[in-house]
Amino acid sequence: MQDAQSIKQDIKSLLPEELEAQLRALGQPSYRAKQIFKWFSRGISSFDEMSDQPRALRAALGEQYLLTAPTLRVRRVSADGTIKYLWGLHDGNAVETVVMRYRHGNTVCISSQVGCRQGCAFCASTIGGLVRNLTAGEMLDEVLFSEKDSGLTISNIVLMGIGEPLDNMENVLRFLELVNRPEGRNIGMRHISLSTCGLTEKFDKLASLNLQLTLSVSLHAPDDETRSRIMPANRGRGVAQLMDACRRYHQKTGRRISFEYAMIDGVNDSPEQARQLAALMKGVGGHVNLIPLNPVKERGFSATPPERVRAFMKALEESGVNVTLRRKLGGDVDASCGQLRRSVST
Ligand code: SAH
Repeated sequence: MQDAQSIKQDIKSLLPEELEAQLRALGQPSYRAKQIFKWFSRGISSFDEMSDQPRALRAALGEQYLLTAPTLRVRRVSADGTIKYLWGLHDGNAVETVVMRYRHGNTVCISSQVGCRQGCAFCASTIGGLVRNLTAGEMLDEVLFSEKDSGLTISNIVLMGIGEPLDNMENVLRFLELVNRPEGRNIGMRHISLSTCGLTEKFDKLASLNLQLTLSVSLHAPDDETRSRIMPANRGRGVAQLMDACRRYHQKTGRRISFEYAMIDGVNDSPEQARQLAALMKGVGGHVNLIPLNPVKERGFSATPPERVRAFMKALEESGVNVTLRRKLGGDVDASCGQLRRSVST
């Protein structure tokens, strides 16, 4: 997970006060840290772009630190305006990022790891396992360089790309802080969603931070037998433990949880499973977001047909569950949920 270059410290992952301390050690006044942090929040690719900084300082920083900047490998634009990027990273790895255009603003879907070790049976991102975590600065780069390339202003961020954010929690929390800082990109927590396959042991820590972000839980099945079959993360944890962790999270933060449910033909879409799902939703303060499964060619699953999606949705509504059907974006360029990869889709 290391390479020669990453021995140098990744400077874009530093918070302004940390940057200030490091610059002080180089004999620099503290206002420089603010200026430099601002540059990083604009998405620069080299220290020399910091035109208001002394040449000697730019050279010294270049000697000492790694300045990450993704290179554009592939850009694909969907008929609905969704843009998918494959970004090359400094060590030769790559991740995908998606920009979606909604009436309420532009949303970027970012990756948090190169690959994923969770092994969900229906998802493309986990094929080939985990390569490494992304640093906070690399996640910030996904936002900034997508913004820069597309010319669109991003107002919302979803951590729903490649990777399991809670498996890279320290860097993800640091990214949230970087992107949220008023002197930086200044994106409010209420405009950020974080999706997890349910690493319940991390929920209490996350709740204790009382972030105002939206937590999305990838549920996909109400019973342990089905959930463990399609989501290995359920094994050794279980649905009951997951729902307990969700209830505690909701009680502590007051935030409603969003439950993702990809409808897979003949796997998790029976009337009995609709009843079980409705029962699970009692008292958790959440809503269910149904997503007809997106095709992933290596996986043997298919989407529930529309009429059965409607019946499932109706059954949930009749039981008083708050339920929405997710509008699919970017399907023609493989940019939909579960279709992101760390190499060019073929
Ligand atoms: N690892 C995190 C973040 C990924 S978010 C998580 O599991 O939540 C991506 C979302 O798309 C998750 O809800 C995931 O379960 C879902 N997904 C994966 N494969 C899919 C597919 N083929 N069709 C629809 N949704 C899928």
